[in-house]
Amino acid sequence: LCAVHPDDMPAAIAELEKIKSGIPTVHFEVRVRTKHGSYTHTSWHVTPAADGKQYAIGRDVTTQLEMQDYLKAEKNRAEAATRAKARFLANMSHEIRTPMNGIMGMANLLMDSIQDPAQVERLRIIQSCGNSMLDLINDVLDFSKVEADGVVLENQPFALHAAAREVVDMMSVKASENSVQIVDEIAASAPEWVLGDVTRFRQVLANLVSNAVKFTKNGVVKIACAVEDEAQGKRLLHFSVQDSGIGIPPEVRDGLFVAFSQVDASTTRKFGGTGLGLSICKGLVEKMGGRIWLDSKVGFGSTFHFTIAIVPIEAPPQVPAPAPPSTEFEGARL
Ligand code: ADP
Repeated sequence: LCAVHPDDMPAAIAELEKIKSGIPTVHFEVRVRTKHGSYTHTSWHVTPAADGKQYAIGRDVTTQLEMQDYLKAEKNRAEAATRAKARFLANMSHEIRTPMNGIMGMANLLMDSIQDPAQVERLRIIQSCGNSMLDLINDVLDFSKVEADGVVLENQPFALHAAAREVVDMMSVKASENSVQIVDEIAASAPEWVLGDVTRFRQVLANLVSNAVKFTKNGVVKIACAVEDEAQGKRLLHFSVQDSGIGIPPEVRDGLFVAFSQVDASTTRKFGGTGLGLSICKGLVEKMGGRIWLDSKVGFGSTFHFTIAIVPIEAPPQVPAPAPPSTEFEGARL
């Protein structure tokens, strides 16, 4: 005992008491002084034998503990580096958006002033590429925000059904191009008014519905909601987006929630996209206290599920219509 580190002495004495009182197997760790004066971490296992005696085996675990500390420090360093990179990416995408808006704005203005069909066609291509570029930048910005843990959720009253309907309306043009019918069954069971982040909720739902429409031809996309659980004033709402599209093979399902992953290399060529949407959804849904997963049958369709924890509220009082705009600046030059 005299070699045990003074700080570990009370714990060592307590363990010895346990052994004396006949407790069968005891495991404890203490620091023990070596003959050179330094301390080693020793792990002890005490086991009773058939002869009634207790046998103790001590093992030097100093290297193992040092290795654990080293790995922990390296892991923290790697995580900090990843966060720094994600922050850099988020700043970059934010900065790139500003000139892109200028380019798009000027292209739109130019469209009003040119007549030559060949030039109009070229300008259309500029606009279409610009829009794809903006979508990509927005995805990268969102993804890097999620990675850097920089998403701050709002907590405001919003009308859940109306938000879902907006998503359906937004997707209806693309759906009709693909001969897809969108069926919205959310209203039946979800609370009408809730507290939460309407933009992020809409973003997740829109991403899943947009994928469902994209990968379905001549079919149906059904959006539904069920209350899964209720605790501490919050409800866990379970949303599902079911399609009758191409389906997803089992071996790639989990990987799809990882950034830049798609079912196969031909997906981008055939359907476009970056493979970032689902990883953004995963980050946002987890931030909203839920999870995301999917079922699918190749050739028959897929169902994406997600849950979010949300506080139902009474409908807020009607906000009076905004006052008509002031005419104070009429005639002034802008
Ligand atoms: P993106 O659609 O931009 O490629 P996502 O992360 O949203 O990125 O989706 C990743 C991939 O998952 C898609 O490229 C596609 O291969 C597959 N996928 C997603 N939703 C569906 C769906 N409803 N049906 C079939 N495949 C899907």
